Amino acid sequence: MSTHETPPADTPAFVARPEVRDFIRDQVAADQAAGVAIVTRFPPEPNGYLHIGHAKAICLNFGIASEFGGLCNLRMDDTNPLTEKTDFVAGIQDDIRWLGFEWNGEVKYASDNFEQLFIWAQQLITQGVAYVDDQNAETIAAMRGAIGVPGTNSPFRDRSVEENLDQFARMRAGEFVDGEKVLRAKIDMGHANGQLRDPIMYRIRHVSHHRTGDAWCIYPTYDWAHGQCDALENVSHSVCTLEFDAHRPLYDWYLDQIGITQSADRNRPHQYEFARLNLTYIVMSKRKLAQLVSDCVVDGWDDPRMSTIRGMRRRGYPAAALRAFSAHVGVAKVNGTNEIELLESFVRDELNRVAIRRMGVLNPLKVVIENYPAGQVEWLDAVNNPEDPEAGTRKIPFSRTLYVEREDFMEDPVPKFYRLFPGNEVRLRYAYFLKCNEAIKNEAGEVVEIRATYDPATHGGQSPDGRKVKTTLHWVSAEHCIQREVRLYDRLFTDAFPGADNVDPMTQINPASRVSIQAMLEPALADVAPGEQLQLERLGYFCADSNDSSVIHRTVSLKDEWARVQKRS
Ligand code: ATP
Ligand code: MG
Repeated sequence: MSTHETPPADTPAFVARPEVRDFIRDQVAADQAAGVAIVTRFPPEPNGYLHIGHAKAICLNFGIASEFGGLCNLRMDDTNPLTEKTDFVAGIQDDIRWLGFEWNGEVKYASDNFEQLFIWAQQLITQGVAYVDDQNAETIAAMRGAIGVPGTNSPFRDRSVEENLDQFARMRAGEFVDGEKVLRAKIDMGHANGQLRDPIMYRIRHVSHHRTGDAWCIYPTYDWAHGQCDALENVSHSVCTLEFDAHRPLYDWYLDQIGITQSADRNRPHQYEFARLNLTYIVMSKRKLAQLVSDCVVDGWDDPRMSTIRGMRRRGYPAAALRAFSAHVGVAKVNGTNEIELLESFVRDELNRVAIRRMGVLNPLKVVIENYPAGQVEWLDAVNNPEDPEAGTRKIPFSRTLYVEREDFMEDPVPKFYRLFPGNEVRLRYAYFLKCNEAIKNEAGEVVEIRATYDPATHGGQSPDGRKVKTTLHWVSAEHCIQREVRLYDRLFTDAFPGADNVDPMTQINPASRVSIQAMLEPALADVAPGEQLQLERLGYFCADSNDSSVIHRTVSLKDEWARVQKRS
């Protein structure tokens, strides 16, 4: 997998978009007017690849920076050495660039600030607002109290500054085993907000870190690292998801204790929370996504059924569609769930604009045109993309033996079936009118071939006498078509809310989420480029696999499921 790719050609222009308004942008605009230099950041923990929820956070943070002429940092929140990997660090950068964004300067790491965080922790100890606690994690948790029930002070809470400094230095020096001691902030064990009940700042973990190696055996908690890293990076607006809203007073408390104030040349960061993106039929947590990979439910993080950015990308979702979707769902202050069909409608809209059109048959049925001369081949003109005149035309071969879609034939047609049945005439796309005469069956009684006649006067599919047909069908020439593996996808989960009501989502896997078939495709697709997106007429949008272009994924069907969902509600 490549770790660095140039941004796609459709990278968004970095321009002001005054029409995009929400409570965060309103705040940014007001702060900018008051003289604040706008700096945002995207702070992933490199413990997995990014998912579509992260795409929303990326579009928001990078979008704000670009709209307001500010900066957006990429910071790896690498404070938990147990789960982090350099592969993920590279993959995250790759995904952000693919989405069309570029961060300010070098990639930043929380671990770059470990020394400064340590010094600030010593400062808090010296100020009498942090202490080393010798209690274990269970005892600390048990003494934290509950909602409406105050916690209990630790017996180690009133250690002297000198003793705390000494203990903390020895924690760093590796004198204690994992879990033997922690550093805690000394705030208020009776505080109504549990986050302020002497939260843990450092834990002992004798674990190598993917960047700092064995230099440290104490690691800062998210809460202790996050706001301080924002401050060190001069972040003005620290945008995160709603579940951190109770952490904001702690975020502010740490900045107060360290003494970080807003000034002309330095930002004091503020945290703002927005609702996380949730979508039906997918899971959106790296832990669950990792389990899908480790349990071999999918082929990897970039399996086209995954809700990861790399999975969607491999499936053929354009970056522009993810950006447009993110902008459309906007930022809210209340959590909710969007329908997956809405995302798919953005994918379809974008692919309608950019995807080349081709013909292919997924489930072939042979058609022999009895009045078409054997051995004759005509190369007919076909439009590459009716939405894009620049895309030009191509030639497609027409001959006596074709394949059409098996579903386009019925021996005994149901009402309103206007496609092929004995006696009925249809149009073959870009070719001729074709009349079905007879179905040939095998010994088992299955239809194996259709006998038909064409009307030479209807070249190009135009009727010379005003005669009308109700349907136009896609087809390929049997002699010229190429056979390719096409993978058709359905939802990975059978439930719209996988994992809801404490059900294990791994019990809700759709066994038919991927079906592989051999399709017959027009010859122009012989040299389709890896990752190339196309529409197979009447069948959907497809994408050649980025590793093996002889495999083709169906990205989405052509049906606008979103319109149907809206009608229903
Ligand atoms: P997950 O729980 O899915 O593993 P996370 O929040 O632990 O995600 P981080 O790497 O910590 O993942 O997230 C980086 C940033 O992306 C955070 O600022 C987080 O708020 C944001 N983010 C994560 N999930 C979503 C989501 N579903 N919608 C919007 N933003 C998200
Ligand atoms: Mg997280």
